[in-house]
Amino acid sequence: DRAKQSLAVLFLDLDDFKTINDSLGHPAGDQVLVTVAERLRRCIRPSDTVARLGGDEFGILLDDMSGPSDALLAAERIIQALSSPAYLDGREVSIRASLGITLDTHGEKADTLLRNADVAMYTAKRRGKGRYQVFESSMHVEMVERLEMTAHLARAVEQHEFTLEYQPIVNLESRAIEGIEALVRWRHPTRGLLPPSEFIPLAEETGLIVPLGWAVLQEACRRAADWQVPGHPSLAVSVNLSPKQLADPNLVTEVGRALEASGLDPECLILEMTEDVLMHETDDILLTLREVKALGVRLAIDDFGTGYSSLSYLERFPVDMLKIAKTFVDQLGNGEPRSPLVEAVIGLGEALGLRTVAEGIETAQQLDRLRGLRCEQGQGFLFARPLGEQAIDTLLRKRDAPPGSVPEPTFV
Ligand code: C2E
Ligand code: MG
Ligand code: MG
Repeated sequence: DRAKQSLAVLFLDLDDFKTINDSLGHPAGDQVLVTVAERLRRCIRPSDTVARLGGDEFGILLDDMSGPSDALLAAERIIQALSSPAYLDGREVSIRASLGITLDTHGEKADTLLRNADVAMYTAKRRGKGRYQVFESSMHVEMVERLEMTAHLARAVEQHEFTLEYQPIVNLESRAIEGIEALVRWRHPTRGLLPPSEFIPLAEETGLIVPLGWAVLQEACRRAADWQVPGHPSLAVSVNLSPKQLADPNLVTEVGRALEASGLDPECLILEMTEDVLMHETDDILLTLREVKALGVRLAIDDFGTGYSSLSYLERFPVDMLKIAKTFVDQLGNGEPRSPLVEAVIGLGEALGLRTVAEGIETAQQLDRLRGLRCEQGQGFLFARPLGEQAIDTLLRKRDAPPGSVPEPTFV
């Protein structure tokens, strides 16, 4: 009948509500919820129903619509209405929400509709927040797969199924290996060696990146300590830190522990982080980073230039180096006589006293251009791919060989 055909259920969940609660306090969080409820009420018709489902979740029942497009329009209206800034104690707060929609096409029961809308909301969140998504039955499958993958990942962390590869970082003038970057891989029992792109996003989302990341740090420091050769310039090891690790209250302890257990000279440890972290959680992170710096380690901004690129944070945070993102390096040596972005980043590094390290150098032309621009260090397939422990060990031993035998590129 008509009434059944025209029903839709919306499931709304605020984006980053925890951040509001954590940074502005729970009373502010409550106020946000009140504001959201008021705005929702203004978006719907008297015949519709809004209910708070708990936490920062709301359910909306749209009754008596003339067609499915009504539900989509309502979702757009809601996202729009929520997006205008709210003021709490004179502070501007932006509210965003993700929405899932179930259109009742099969005469489903109410709790099924709500559950499906929840699944659709979850998908909306994963696809980038601040948007809506209509439920499709494939979403259930995806969700189950993700749950399984999460369980696998959790077990893998516990059972140490991860291994590190190390990519040499060379001096662009002499080609001498001055450092290595530790890059994690998952030795998956059935799928083989998986690159970070296959599991880091899920590890981030589930928080598993924190225990995994600390294990990586301990291991990388231990190896780097082994690979120091008396009488040789020291070998630095770069370790990637996830935003979740930077927010972990154990950060300073974990770094201290890794240094102590390995005996690695703190000067030899470089922690890499992406710029978005520094853009968002400024004050707390600033304090933590100062503490980490006090241990004597160095900090690098990874993939520099691909994030939000507000430069003010560079002066505020105690960073030591900028890693020029591969996307910029790719533009070098394609025949263009100039490369303003790379020049600008290297110039910025010089002006701020930061070392620049180019990532993803693949061709001799790129190397020439970078050297011409006085970029100090680099890494890339031109010099070496990420290598297993054994291969790195062999390569580092070659440093003892007479000059001339060192610079040969290594392909594996
Ligand atoms: P990243 O830190 O920017 O690492 C550099 C990535 O570029 C590595 O990919 C490396 O293999 C690749 N690469 C280096 N030279 C070249 C080149 O010449 N050409 C090309 N095409 N690629 C090159 P990988 O190992 O797949 O790692 C990807 C990303 O995963 C890393 O980017 C880093 O953001 C993340 N990651 C890796 N290990 C860890 C970890 O232990 N913890 C965390 N949180 N993230 C990690
Ligand atoms: Mg890195
Ligand atoms: Mg990078």
